[in-house]
Amino acid sequence: MDKHACRACRGSDGYLVLDLGEQPACDYFPRRDDPGPDPVYPLQMWLCSSCGLAQLLADPTVPEEPKGAEPAALIAQAADAVKQVSQAGWLPDRGAVAEYGSPHGGSWLGLAAARGLVTCAPGEQADVIIDCFGLMHAADQRQALAERAARIAPGGMLLLQYHALSTILGRRQWNALRHGHYAYYSTTALTTMLAAVGFSPVTAWRFSLYGGTVLLAASRDGERNVRPDAVVQSLVAEDDRVGVCDPGAFAGLQRDVRAHAKALHDWLAAERSAGRKVLGYGAASRAVALLCHARVDRRLLPAVIDASPAKQGLRMPGTDIPVAASGQLAADKPDAVLLFVPDLLAEVRDAYPEVEAGGGWWVDAQAFGSGSL
Ligand SMILES: [Zn+2]
Repeated sequence: MDKHACRACRGSDGYLVLDLGEQPACDYFPRRDDPGPDPVYPLQMWLCSSCGLAQLLADPTVPEEPKGAEPAALIAQAADAVKQVSQAGWLPDRGAVAEYGSPHGGSWLGLAAARGLVTCAPGEQADVIIDCFGLMHAADQRQALAERAARIAPGGMLLLQYHALSTILGRRQWNALRHGHYAYYSTTALTTMLAAVGFSPVTAWRFSLYGGTVLLAASRDGERNVRPDAVVQSLVAEDDRVGVCDPGAFAGLQRDVRAHAKALHDWLAAERSAGRKVLGYGAASRAVALLCHARVDRRLLPAVIDASPAKQGLRMPGTDIPVAASGQLAADKPDAVLLFVPDLLAEVRDAYPEVEAGGGWWVDAQAFGSGSL
């Protein structure tokens, strides 16, 4: 195999820090009647020794996931973020805005338009560029960041939102690693990447989404007489404490893969033996690696419920578990519902009161093996 070149700095020195083995493409949900086996690809995280960017090593070309129903949690977070950025004075009330969005949805353009910003045409210069989980989907990180930076008008801002690597490490979210997500940002690595295009972080906001999400504001060097503020400095200090550039700090993440998967399998097997019915909720990418590692099939988990019409008639990759519509929650009266996306807890409890009314409970699939369940 050719030596890997860093997706950002092109350096070739680095470490394989997380290896999930051969995994099905979590973006490709086969039809329910497709017997498989599904093609598998190596799923590995590599940490660049030069710029510190944690990244996907192999690069299988996989089709994009059907856009899911936009979770209310994501919509609420976007509104909160736009409000906070605006209140802090970093969002102009006029000018042009461009967005590099995520294929999973969650556009901020409507919110920006409501503030008076005008959406500019593709390729045009913008006063504000919003990138909400967009950049991570670019295989060539250097080129993608350079493209964004080049479109920012003099005096303009880049707003980048990302799931923090310190969260992934600190909360042992090993199943955040997935095909199609090429980069896992620390504020530290992103600062280095920004410096390469002549930008620097000026401020940031933290959100509880995914257990810890950061929105970083960056401006072109020399245009604003500002230094990274206390929030940026605290994020960098936290990166340092967690060890985002230290390959040794990832060992716990690798160990947790087996513990998490085994705890989940054992719990499902015990529930089945006890005659209790468990369903899953949220046919998300992070559920795919977890179910595959835990060797869960439909005997242990008869269905994963998902509200997205695009996923009906399909099954989970790498296993025979069908994706089912939410009506099955009322029909099956499960004793427990395994929630693969913990951010959805408040919203699913509201949407499906029948689960708890029928004596069932919602179980956080992320919590297994962490000692919190
Ligand atoms: Zn690098």
